Amino acid sequence: MDFSNTDDAIIRRIHAMNNRINEIKRSNLYFYNQPVSELKGGARVLVNGREMGMYASYSYLGLVGHPKINAAAKDAIDRFGSGTHGVRTLAGSLTLHRELEECIAQFKNAEASITFSSGYVTNLTVVSTLVGRNDYVISDKLNHASIVDGCLMSGAKFLRFNHNDMEALENRLNQVPSGSCKLVITDAVFSMDGDLINFPKIVELCKKYEAWLMVDEAHSVGVLGKNGRGIEEHFGMEDAIDIKMGTLSKTIPSVGGYVAGKRDLIEFLRHSSRAYIFSAALPPAQAGAAKAAFQVILDEPWRVEKLRQNATHFISGLKKRGFDTMQTETAIVPILCGTDEAAFAMTGEAQRDGIFVLPVVSPAVPQGLSRLRATVTAAHETSEIEKAMDIIEMGGKKLGLI
Ligand SMILES: *Cc1c(COP(=O)(O)O)cnc(C)c1O
Repeated sequence: MDFSNTDDAIIRRIHAMNNRINEIKRSNLYFYNQPVSELKGGARVLVNGREMGMYASYSYLGLVGHPKINAAAKDAIDRFGSGTHGVRTLAGSLTLHRELEECIAQFKNAEASITFSSGYVTNLTVVSTLVGRNDYVISDKLNHASIVDGCLMSGAKFLRFNHNDMEALENRLNQVPSGSCKLVITDAVFSMDGDLINFPKIVELCKKYEAWLMVDEAHSVGVLGKNGRGIEEHFGMEDAIDIKMGTLSKTIPSVGGYVAGKRDLIEFLRHSSRAYIFSAALPPAQAGAAKAAFQVILDEPWRVEKLRQNATHFISGLKKRGFDTMQTETAIVPILCGTDEAAFAMTGEAQRDGIFVLPVVSPAVPQGLSRLRATVTAAHETSEIEKAMDIIEMGGKKLGLI
């Protein structure tokens, strides 16, 4: 392909994006895709040869590198090798997969569960397997991209409601012609803002309008609830979700995604989901690691408590220093900067002083709401968080944000 042919729409698109990236790189404000070369223990990492405090991790309970989880991964390789014989349906199903799925079902207080090769793929395939052309899918406007993509792929009528606005959701539910199937989908904890869905109300509305409720718990497993079991435990509402979706790549230091729910639902997905039938099984090491991680969460409940203390400390400390942390109630802490440029500049300040934190800019968030998106985990020491906040404060003052 001749890349100088600017009549070609694909080439124009490639140029537009690459020009923006190159501009940011030229001003030394490109912070994405930096290679981490070593875990230094606790919440410290080696990035580009420099040891930094990790404030961009989804390993909320600090389980990456946990000796029991590492050992389980190694043991799984010794027993089953590094891959499977292909897709689960044919020759790729291992006893280990079955054990992992039983373990997830138990942890999520469900009859059964099914795993897929990533959280992204889980949302894509579950939504598009359950609903189709004559159905309605209703989604919070700030839901994760994988949910949006699943909704679009399904071909169902796609209705969105303003973020966490339960009146808007009820209006949407009223819009659906009677007799049509309805699936309501939400994140439990929103991945850019760290706030929680109004769970009791969304459950009530789904019951009232006989809609299915699917909740993505990517950022709530290990984070919410006394034992880290997620949003139902947090609100003391057992069995309120029809389709309990989560990922094995965040609190659970592995890769993969799952859905837990009624046995019939899971059996249906196992025989209808194209991502299950036409894509390879989780590798043994990852299945073994994930299974061990659920056990570690239950065995070491101090981690959930420590995470909560760290999040509270971080949020209140930043607020005291004059930052706007939006509506967060969890370990995802947005530090509002405003323009993309301000977010990049703040990142530069923080990273120069050893704080590994990253910016989120438009179009991932609305224009004017660009931010640092910092996370704390159970692996941070109180003194480390204090030091990080001091560094962020210096940057904020220098750039006139506070
Ligand atoms: C990360 C994330 C996913 C995707 O999970 P992966 O396992 O990384 O593919 C899905 N939903 C939400 C809300 C997420 O934050």
